[in-house]
Formats: sequence, structure tokens, C-alpha cells
Amino acid sequence: MTRQLDYKAKWYGRTFVQLDRWFPGSKTCSQCRHKVEQLPLKIREWDCPKCDAHHDREVNALAP
Ligand SMILES: [Zn+2]
Repeated sequence: MTRQLDYKAKWYGRTFVQLDRWFPGSKTCSQCRHKVEQLPLKIREWDCPKCDAHHDREVNALAP
């Protein structure tokens, strides 16, 4: 039982690291990984200049 939990924790830990690498923040497009250099805090929605995907700032940051 303890072994199983330990395995799960490690698996999730690795998943989080991968997510963190692909999603450094809400400035990265979840569709094409394009990262915008500047995104003022007051802007809540933005369009990716590369693939034209529309993003809501918070939803994009939490995308799987
Ligand atoms: Zn994009």
C-alpha cells in the first residue's frame, strides 16, 4: 500500500515538472506553444499572434 502511494506520488511529480516546462505561464499559447514576450496584467484575454488562437488568460494557464 505504502509502495503504491509512493509510486503515485513520483508519477504525479514527474507530470507536474513536464507541465511546468510546457506551460511556464499564461503567456504561452496552449495551441502552438508560442510565447508572447509581453502581456500586461490588465489583459485577461489575448490572441496568439502565431496561430490566432483566442485565450482567456487564467484558463490557458490551467490547460492540461
Ligand atoms: Zn498559438
